[in-house]
Amino acid sequence: MKPFPRAEISAAALKSNLRRLRELAPHSKVMAVVKANGYGHGLLNVANCLSTADGFGLARLQEALELRAGGVTAKLLLLEGFFRQSDLDLLITHDIDTVVHHEFQIEMLEQQTLAKPVTVWLKIDSGMHRLGFNLAQFNAIYARLMACPQVAKPIHLMTHFACADEPDNPATAKQAERFNEMTQGLPGFRTLANSAAALYWQQTQADWIRPGIALYGVSPVANDFGSNHGLVPAMELMSQLIAVRDHKAGDPVGYGSYWHAKQDTQLGVVAIGYGDGYPRNAPEGTPVWVNGRLVPIVGRVSMDMLTVDLGIDATDKVGDAVMLWGKALPVEDVAEHIGTIAYELVTKLTPRVAVCMD
Ligand SMILES: *Cc1c(COP(=O)(O)O)cnc(C)c1O
Repeated sequence: MKPFPRAEISAAALKSNLRRLRELAPHSKVMAVVKANGYGHGLLNVANCLSTADGFGLARLQEALELRAGGVTAKLLLLEGFFRQSDLDLLITHDIDTVVHHEFQIEMLEQQTLAKPVTVWLKIDSGMHRLGFNLAQFNAIYARLMACPQVAKPIHLMTHFACADEPDNPATAKQAERFNEMTQGLPGFRTLANSAAALYWQQTQADWIRPGIALYGVSPVANDFGSNHGLVPAMELMSQLIAVRDHKAGDPVGYGSYWHAKQDTQLGVVAIGYGDGYPRNAPEGTPVWVNGRLVPIVGRVSMDMLTVDLGIDATDKVGDAVMLWGKALPVEDVAEHIGTIAYELVTKLTPRVAVCMD
């Protein structure tokens, strides 16, 4: 018997999404972003499944080490770079590229002798103002890295967009322009585009795109769906009914007793809750898929369970499958109801949810 709740991951969907992104960005290499446990889809499984990607992007050294320990030999890049002096030897031992976004990292590089130079992607702040060097700092920083024997040449060049998920926002084109001006004539690879930029701002695709969410078949843009771009959802979050109960008009359900049935109905109790990463703040009406139809959540999501209104005529039984999101119920839709983004839903699943690759 399959465990539940479980996240069923489709290898075919992941592969198809990578192929689709290559079609959409035919001149770019693909740095598949698999940080945060492959956006909740399973780090090593996703990387193995996407073994034809040109490289993998990660946020933590530990994630990169897990991939190496799992036998992944592809290019790996730490998108925020290293955090500590002692990380540097590990980068060399395991052949991991690093972003450099701050002077403390350059100081660490200058202070250490490495067995060989490390490959650096220099992060430029073109307008997001989170990480990276701005126009005023850039020339001096670049010269310093060029002079540092611990840094492999050429230095690669990177930036990140603040508003690429807003297709009408001119900020993205401005950021790209600033990046292009700052890096004009320099050697090395250029990479600007996350999923949203790769999908909506073709002129930013450059040498490498860095898609994360799109690889999982999900749109980064509000009121949009991965399927609009030929992408296929890679995750189905499944559980099952553990009770079906007759419920009387006027009766409440769950903690706080704040929802009351307007009419006689049947309630289904689903084995998933915030202890599995399904948000507690999912409001009444958030859709859940049961036996081919969508039914609304009623009452408060609790740690291990949530309740849905199946309707008076329901024929659903204990043990029937329930989908919280997936092909029949896009995670983008669920996120919209809950007032968050699909990224948060998929990455917040807890270890109690079995991640099953088909
Ligand atoms: C997470 C991340 C990405 C991927 O972003 P998506 O919106 O999921 O495509 C790309 N670049 C950097 C620097 C990141 O941190």
